[in-house]
Formats: sequence, C-alpha cells, structure tokens
Amino acid sequence: MIKSIVIAGGGTAGWMTAAALARVFGPSLNITLVESDEIGTIGVGEATIPAIARFNTMLRLDEDAFLRETQGTFKLGIEFRGWRERGHSYMHSFGAVGRDLAYLPFHHYWYQDRMQGGDAGELGDYDLNHAAAYAGRFARADDLVHAFHFDAGLYAAFLRRYAEAGGVTRIEGRIADVTVDGDIRSLRLADGREIAGDFFIDCTGFRALLIEGALKTGYEDWRHWLPCDRALAVPSARTGALLPYTRATAQVAGWTWRIPLQHRTGNGHVYCSAHTSDDEAHAALMGQLDGEALADPRPIRFTTGRRKKLWHRNCLAIGLSAGFIEPLESTSIHLIQSAIERFIMLFPRGPNHDRLAEDFNNSSIMEMENIRDFIILHYHVNGRYDETFWNSCRNMTVPDSLHHRIELFRETAALHIPTADIFRLPSWLQVLHGQGVEPQAVHPFTERVARDDRARFLRGQRHDCRERLKHLPSLAG
Ligand SMILES: Cc1cc2nc3c(=O)[nH]c(=O)nc-3n(C[C@H](O)[C@H](O)[C@H](O)COP(=O)(O)OP(=O)(O)OC[C@H]3O[C@@H](n4cnc5c(N)ncnc54)[C@H](O)[C@@H]3O)c2cc1C
Repeated sequence: MIKSIVIAGGGTAGWMTAAALARVFGPSLNITLVESDEIGTIGVGEATIPAIARFNTMLRLDEDAFLRETQGTFKLGIEFRGWRERGHSYMHSFGAVGRDLAYLPFHHYWYQDRMQGGDAGELGDYDLNHAAAYAGRFARADDLVHAFHFDAGLYAAFLRRYAEAGGVTRIEGRIADVTVDGDIRSLRLADGREIAGDFFIDCTGFRALLIEGALKTGYEDWRHWLPCDRALAVPSARTGALLPYTRATAQVAGWTWRIPLQHRTGNGHVYCSAHTSDDEAHAALMGQLDGEALADPRPIRFTTGRRKKLWHRNCLAIGLSAGFIEPLESTSIHLIQSAIERFIMLFPRGPNHDRLAEDFNNSSIMEMENIRDFIILHYHVNGRYDETFWNSCRNMTVPDSLHHRIELFRETAALHIPTADIFRLPSWLQVLHGQGVEPQAVHPFTERVARDDRARFLRGQRHDCRERLKHLPSLAG
C-alpha cells in the first residue's frame, strides 16, 4: 500500500497538490512537502479559468475568504487586443453565447442571418458575460460564469496554511540529490537529511529535478508552433475601477498581459527572443503600464512543450515540471488542478501501477494537446501583415488536429469539440470569429426556420441579454 507521499517543491503546484491530497486522504496518507526558501517560487500565475471553482469546492473553501486572503478579483473572460489586426479587439468570455435552437448550436442561425444581410448584431450581444465584462458589472448568478485573478504568492501561502492544518509536514531545505534504483527511493537534502517515501510528486517547477533530473523521461518541444520563449513580469500600482477581465494585447513579437487585483495590477510580456530583444520587450511592457511600477521586471525563460511521460515509475510531475504552455488562456493552474483530480481518481494501491500511469499519461497528453492547439489558433490566424513574427506564425504548418478544426469551421460552421477539450464550443467560436475566420456555409437545418422567425429568435435574445445586464450591480459600487 502507498502510505507516504513526498512532494518536492512548494510553489502553486506543490501546495495545491498537498492541500488536495490532505483533504481527500486525511490521516491515512503521510504527506511531506520539501521546499527551498532560498530557491523560491516562480511567483507568477495569477489568472484562472472557471473550472477552479471545482477545486475550491473540493477543498470546501469559502469563496469570500479565498478572495480576501489572495487579494482576488472576479474574471469574466479575456479581452484580446490587436490579435486579428492592429486596432481590433474581441472578448473570449466564459459564458454561453446565445441559446441553441432545436438540434443546432446558436451560431449557425446567427451566421446565416449575417450571410443573408439581417441585423443579427455582434456575437457579444448574445453573451451576458461579454456585456457584463465591458460594463464592469458582476453578481454571483447562474447565467454568469466566473473565474478569478489572484496574487500567486498569497495563493501559495493560503494553500500552505490549509495543507499544514490538514496534517501535511513541511520541510525546508534544498534537494541536492535524488536516490534512484529504478524507482525513486529518497530525496537527499544539502544538509544531509534523507526524505524517503513510497511515491514522489515532482513540483520543482522548470527544474524538474525528479521527473527529468533523476528519471530522464525526455521533453517534447513545441517551440516550432509556439515560438515565444521569454517573459518579463512586473506589478504596478492599481489605478481606477477594477475590470472583471484579463487583457492580452498583441505586441511586435508576442503579447502583454494585464491582470487586475485588489491591491495591485499584474503585468507581463511574453515574447519571442528570435524576433525582439530583451530591451525592446522591456520598453514595450513598461510603456503599457497604467500605474507606477512596484518592482523591476523579472525575467523568465521557458521552453514550451511537455514531458514525454508525466507519470513515470513512482514519480508524477505536476505544474511547470510537467510542461509549459504560455499563459494566454490562463491554463497552467488548471492543468495542475486536473492532474491532481486525475491522480486522485487513479490513485495506486501499491507499487505496480504501470497501467494507471499509462492511462494518466494518455489523458493528460490529450488535454495538453487540445490546449496547445487552442493557443496556436490565436497566433496562426492573424491579419498582422508586414510583421515578421506574425507572418511566420501565419505561414507555419499547424498540427493536423488544429488545421482540421479550422477548415471544418470555415467550410461548414461546424464545431465538433472532443470531450477532452477544456475549451468548449463558445470558446472556440469566440476565438475563431475574433481572429477573423468566417464560415462559408452553415448547417442545412437552418433552412427549416423561416427568416422572420429567425430574426424574432435573435432579436429576443439580444433583448433578454440587455435587460438582464441592467439588473447586474456595478463593480464600481
Ligand atoms: C510568465 C508566466 C506567466 C504565467 N501566468 C499564469 C497565469 O496567468 N495563469 C496560470 O494558470 N498560470 C500561469 N503561469 C504558470 C504558473 O505560474 C505555474 O503553473 C504555477 O505557478 C506553478 O508553478 P510550480 O509550482 O510548478 O513551480 P514554482 O513556482 O517554480 O515552484 C517550484 C518549487 O520547487 C522548489 N524547488 C526547486 N528546486 C528545489 C530544490 N533543489 N530543493 C528544494 N526545493 C526546490 C522551489 O523552491 C519552489 O518551491 C505562468 C507562468 C509563467 C512562466
């Protein structure tokens, strides 16, 4: 039986894992977490997607306390500026876009109306999340779907308190060596202490000390599709009213983020070092701050991709040690969460767990590849002509899975989303449309709805959305 788990690393991944395992297994599992204050954490990762509510529910967190402790804010979506072309912007909201009719998703009727010169308006007119985000309104309501922005450092500290109260033992020290005899047996700390366990979770971030350093599982590099490889992160003073959305603004060779928190604003620039210099990236980031910088920008380097195996022998990689996809759609914390949930579902009874590991790896890889494709879409379908970085993104060969999805939508408006994809139809629709992909035809079933009925159907929904918005309170108070 697996009686003891050792978690190496105490960033967001380490403490999320420790908190969840302590909550689910209680005293039946001995959980030790080793972290090094001297090394510290990456300290970014402040925007999430709505599935985080499931994690909070698993921990039975009180949402108000969570927001207070992490200086968190509500997030209704992400605004993309300048991605289709300079001056253009669109919202990828978390909400539903329109109501479906009979057998067909809403967007088929909407596109048909546009193709026939109707007055269907904009996609956002059918999306309460979109309207509320731009109007700065919010309430906890069934028809609004929210996630959070929070301070990454405060979040890890919050989870640490939770996990320690749940019985997790924290050891401070630097892991100097990993003892392996096929499986991992123990972690040796710089001061000579030896931490043994039945199963090890590698949460050591980009260092990947266990899964790569000790077990050499290998890495699949995705930079030919996602060539950004550096980031700068800087906090700035909060100015003005809180916006309930993240902003992602395309730059010459990458993009900048803006994440509103209660006590400050998080900012950063993800960029491609082959197309812009560190100094240019620095200038672009600092030129965009809307408040005084509270620190010097912190440089981060990364290689987009994934570990070839995320669970290998008696070691599971969670967090940055498992791989990295840039934070354009705020998916890393979600990947941590879903790895934890999957591990709990597949938790091994004893030392023979090859089949469980295989299942874990297959599901995790599918999930990561779907996210990868979604992120590539933002770069690939762009109208930023005469810019070398954006031209190379437009001209690159994308994965077959993504090529198929774009062409299927372009030819037929069909969006057939596999269940393994965290991003569902409204997400793909908003980004495809936002980036400028227009379908040439819609489903033939739409012909069965008379033109006037369709117009009434669309008008009614726009009206409902406007009316509903009026009843949402303003975040400005
Ligand atoms: C630029 C950027 C922006 C991001 N933005 C977002 C976002 O908006 N949303 C989102 O969901 N995610 C985002 N992420 C990802 C997010 O930051 C990470 O997924 C998350 O913080 C988890 O990191 P981690 O815990 O795996 O690694 P880390 O935070 O690096 O933690 C590693 C831990 O391992 C310990 N450690 C390492 N080596 C040793 C050693 N030898 N001995 C002892 N301990 C050791 C460290 O001390 C630390 O405790 C972003 C990432 C980057 C790079």
